[in-house]
Amino acid sequence: MKLYNTKTLQVEEFVPRHPHEVNMYVCGPTVYNYVHIGNARPIVIFDTLRRVFEAEGYNVRYVSNYTDVDDKIINKAIEEGVSETEIAERYMAAYNKIREDLHTEPLYDAPQVTKTMNEIIAFIGELVDKGYAYVVDGDVYFSVDMVPGYGHLSHQNPKDLEVGARVAENDKKRSGLDFALWKKTDKGIKWDSPWGPGRPGWHTECVVMIDKDFNHESIDIHGGGKDLRFPHHENENAQNLAAKGKDLANYWIHNGMVNVSGQKMSKSLGNTVWAKDVIEELGPDLTRWILLSVRYRDVLDYSPKTIEEAEKGLRKITTPIHQANVKLALADKENLEAYDKASYGEFLDAMNDDLNTPNAYAVMYKTAGALNQALRVREPDLEKIAEYRNALEKMLDILGIPAEKLSLSAEEKDLYRAWLDARKEKDFEKADKLRSQLEEKGIL
Ligand SMILES: [Zn+2]
Repeated sequence: MKLYNTKTLQVEEFVPRHPHEVNMYVCGPTVYNYVHIGNARPIVIFDTLRRVFEAEGYNVRYVSNYTDVDDKIINKAIEEGVSETEIAERYMAAYNKIREDLHTEPLYDAPQVTKTMNEIIAFIGELVDKGYAYVVDGDVYFSVDMVPGYGHLSHQNPKDLEVGARVAENDKKRSGLDFALWKKTDKGIKWDSPWGPGRPGWHTECVVMIDKDFNHESIDIHGGGKDLRFPHHENENAQNLAAKGKDLANYWIHNGMVNVSGQKMSKSLGNTVWAKDVIEELGPDLTRWILLSVRYRDVLDYSPKTIEEAEKGLRKITTPIHQANVKLALADKENLEAYDKASYGEFLDAMNDDLNTPNAYAVMYKTAGALNQALRVREPDLEKIAEYRNALEKMLDILGIPAEKLSLSAEEKDLYRAWLDARKEKDFEKADKLRSQLEEKGIL
């Protein structure tokens, strides 16, 4: 597997820390609202990456968290007059529904900040003891100046960053780049700590959850949207450098954003596209197909044109698969298991090339073309047809699109044969009647 590592700005050969094992963490949502299509993209991308690793024989430990305490959650709870827990649980359930609807494989763990509080407080205490963090009036800040190499992850010079991050007059921070590890709060949910009641800062949560879930080790892959590179991931990494003297992860993988008809999605433009609406309208298969249709690092433009093209593209794959299923079922050969190794190998090569899904799609179109040809010959080679179908199904499986389940009963097989006969005999009235019966059963 080759992956583009945003830490080095290079495509690198993936070398796991432990043989045959991938430890991967992807920053999860702050659960104060439904997720939009841009949030669904990393769900699908990292689930697909995991499937490629598994196809290559790796054991993947994939963890993704919930940020279930945050100002946005607190404000929403106050607005609605309910508890923060109620808000968080509502949107955690909605997020999990999206993951399920999109056929994602189960996570190894999905930790919550509120259930990691003791560890978070202990970790902040450790940073204070080591002199990397300082306490001001109930707040705890991380001192960025203490970490040599701050900025290396997002390729920025701390001097340049400081210009943009001047300390406001009423700010308690020593330097503009310093960030809060613990926030003294007077409103909303809070926890006791050695520095007084408050709640943790966002950047510190992921570091602690990674440490807890991965046996206090650094991980192989840290993922998330490009917008998390700075400051979130830089700040996560700075804390790990402070606590352990090494980077939090070997490979940092960031996916591109999703635009809507050429525009950035934003509250002010009112063009937010919710993931649940997309899945409801297009179905999970087409949604995944769209989300993987451009290279994961590039911007994906979600537009009517994108949907139309994706629909056509996916149909090019599923139509011959369906025809093959019918043909094989009629011949009682639906269970042939051999697959076309050449095309499947080519597909995997594309996926192993930094998840080059456009090239992988091209391999699928080529394979579907070969299957179409095999279906059209007068005396079809059923073994060949099964091989292409099975290869395509294996490819779809890696994309998280389940195979069509078609099994025909004896009665349905008779019906299908009767339809073919009626057409041959040019009895169009009868053929139409049989056709609508077959359509009703979803066979045609
Ligand atoms: Zn994070």
